Amino acid sequence: MVSFVGAGPGDVDLITVKGRKLLGEADVVIYAGSLVSNEHLKFCKEGAKFYNSASMTLEEVIEVIERAEKDNLKVVRLHTGDPTIYGAIREQMDILDIKGISYEVVPGVSSFTAACASIKREFTLPNVSQTVILTRIEGRTPVPEEEDLEFLAKYKASMAIFLSVQEIDRVVEKLVKGYGTDNIPVAIVYKATWEDEKIIFGTLKDIEEKVKKENINKMAQILVGNFIEGEYDRSKLYDPSFTHKFRSGAK
Ligand code: SAH
Repeated sequence: MVSFVGAGPGDVDLITVKGRKLLGEADVVIYAGSLVSNEHLKFCKEGAKFYNSASMTLEEVIEVIERAEKDNLKVVRLHTGDPTIYGAIREQMDILDIKGISYEVVPGVSSFTAACASIKREFTLPNVSQTVILTRIEGRTPVPEEEDLEFLAKYKASMAIFLSVQEIDRVVEKLVKGYGTDNIPVAIVYKATWEDEKIIFGTLKDIEEKVKKENINKMAQILVGNFIEGEYDRSKLYDPSFTHKFRSGAK
């Protein structure tokens, strides 16, 4: 049995209870060493075997899984954040399907929610935005044309941009074009929930300069939108004049 497990954004206690339990029982752990903290491995049993997938190909990962499976061993494939977002798990699962190896996927705390928690904000504010766009700028991996940042910015939804801080100049350029203004709040969260986490607040006007000054070029979330700064309406859910299934209204 293979378990794809979300390790969470950094802080080892942000893995799920289920994920921690699976790690404790695993015979073989294949972890994404470039982003997953080594500290997670302390929760594994003695004799568990570790493989850092940072230096492995897809074929090599599958080979390790196949060998373990033959010996009836429990495998945890530990991914950073939530495995379903930029996790490259689909290609692994499809091969396991072909090989008839069963697996499960255990979700995790993604870095986009962790980053929003770190800056103590809420993505979805009444009358500001009720939509969150998770995206990235194209790099070596292309992004479909219809999903270009400039186009997505036109929605004025809350945005969490992954894998892009090293291209902050191009990100800003596209967003300014899409929004039609540079007066839009931005927060950069570097290594959210790690001990060396860094937060920078700014706007599309000055964020590039600030990011470059701090030398941030990897492992950051770029959060963009008016949810970061500015006015919003209070929630209807907790409004005394608004009744719903669980509350019949103010007495
Ligand atoms: N599955 C992961 C994302 C993997 S892609 C998740 O759900 O978070 C790697 C990108 O995620 C990084 O380039 C960065 O943009 C973001 N990221 C991962 N961990 C982060 C963290 N602790 N703080 C800020 N961004 C992080």
